[in-house]
Amino acid sequence: MYEPYPVPELAREHQKFLYSSLWTFAKQDLRLLVFLLIIAGCIGLGIGYLWICLGIACLIFFGIQLRSLYLVNDWISNRPYDVPPNLNGIWGALLFNVYRSQRQERIVQSEMVGLIDRTQSSLVALSEAIILTDDSHQIEWWNPAAEKLFGIQAVDRGRNLLTIIRQPDFIEYFHNTHQAPDGVKIKLVNHDNKYAQIKLTRFGNESRLLVAHDITRMKNLEQMRSDFVDNISHELRTPLTVLSGYIETFTDQEDINPRWKRAFEQMQSQTKRMNALVNDLLLLSRLENEKQIAKNQIIEMPSLMNHLFDDAQAYNIDYGHTLNLDIDSHCDLIGSDMELASAFSNLITNAIKYTPKGGTITIGWHDDGERGYFSVQDTGIGIDPKHLPRLTERFYRVDSARSRQTGGTGLGLAIVKHVLMQHGAHIEIESKENEGSTFIAVFPKERLYKMHE
Ligand code: ADP
Repeated sequence: MYEPYPVPELAREHQKFLYSSLWTFAKQDLRLLVFLLIIAGCIGLGIGYLWICLGIACLIFFGIQLRSLYLVNDWISNRPYDVPPNLNGIWGALLFNVYRSQRQERIVQSEMVGLIDRTQSSLVALSEAIILTDDSHQIEWWNPAAEKLFGIQAVDRGRNLLTIIRQPDFIEYFHNTHQAPDGVKIKLVNHDNKYAQIKLTRFGNESRLLVAHDITRMKNLEQMRSDFVDNISHELRTPLTVLSGYIETFTDQEDINPRWKRAFEQMQSQTKRMNALVNDLLLLSRLENEKQIAKNQIIEMPSLMNHLFDDAQAYNIDYGHTLNLDIDSHCDLIGSDMELASAFSNLITNAIKYTPKGGTITIGWHDDGERGYFSVQDTGIGIDPKHLPRLTERFYRVDSARSRQTGGTGLGLAIVKHVLMQHGAHIEIESKENEGSTFIAVFPKERLYKMHE
């Protein structure tokens, strides 16, 4: 941020000089004129040509003024940065004032240049890549880190930025910067397997400041973590299937000792939990790795809603809630049916699980012409607002003991978030502790299919 420059002492002096002392300098000229007239008058009276002598004195005075004017003009036109010629009278004052304001301007200018130099050298030293573009998106300036990251060269000055960073994700972000406050991650084309996080800031009319940094290490670590979870989940699947098969066989035996029966039942419920966890981890890892946008199936919402409602009723048997179905839209959804069904079903089972017996759950689908809203409203335990921002993180639970008791894996909402993200949708949560919660999946217009138009 540039601080406005303080007016130097010189400038104020200058102002005072301008308005109060001009008369002092004019008096010098008047004194010269009077002096010339007196001398000419005396000579004129002596030789008997008074008027002629006075006229000559005036001409001499006029000549002196003309010479001063010539010197002033010569200085301004040819050597404005040199010390001005030493003149008396108002011409001297004029030169002095011009010279002072010029000096002051040069001081401010050199301070500005110094500041720009300092800013520029700090930008040059940054490890982040910086690129400045003008109003027509042409590259104006960049630092060495940008050369390394994007391979920009001197010949690229004045080239359109979008002809250098051509990845579709970046182009989309460039035109809709406000939609991605955290910027965009792209794979760099001029390096093998390198990634950058780019953030754009608009200034002036259409000018932009691009800041980018190398996130390859972070991306690799993320990939390692995801691969690790994926592999371990796959490895756990087989032993778990074998274990739960045997446990089920033993539990089902009629002549089993009652002491063992209880132990086998507990083993069965724990293996079920582990199975659910492994399945959720695998689904989440698949959702994370599948970068492409969700499929474009047309999902008939009345049918899906009825299906979900039937499943909810089956799950609700132990809870005894009142379940309502509220469909107020003629739109269907465009997306991946299995994934959306699993996300919606997660929201419904949560509502049932986290509502004390005898509550009311309403499952809704409506649209306002611009967006589609799938909602699940419950009269359950609600959520303290401080938990809301972290609720969709994997394994984040408000009350871990309660969640485990209800058989939760802690991954349900993370899966919902990822499925919605793939559909360009997002989740909105409204909740009041001890009163209930509403989870709303908001779908953009592009995902709505209006069949009854
Ligand atoms: P879990 O498998 O533990 O239910 P989720 O990711 O589905 O995991 O949910 C995360 C946490 O959010 C839950 O542990 C619970 O504390 C809270 N939560 C989710 N849905 C509701 C709801 N409808 N009412 C109250 N709390 C909820």
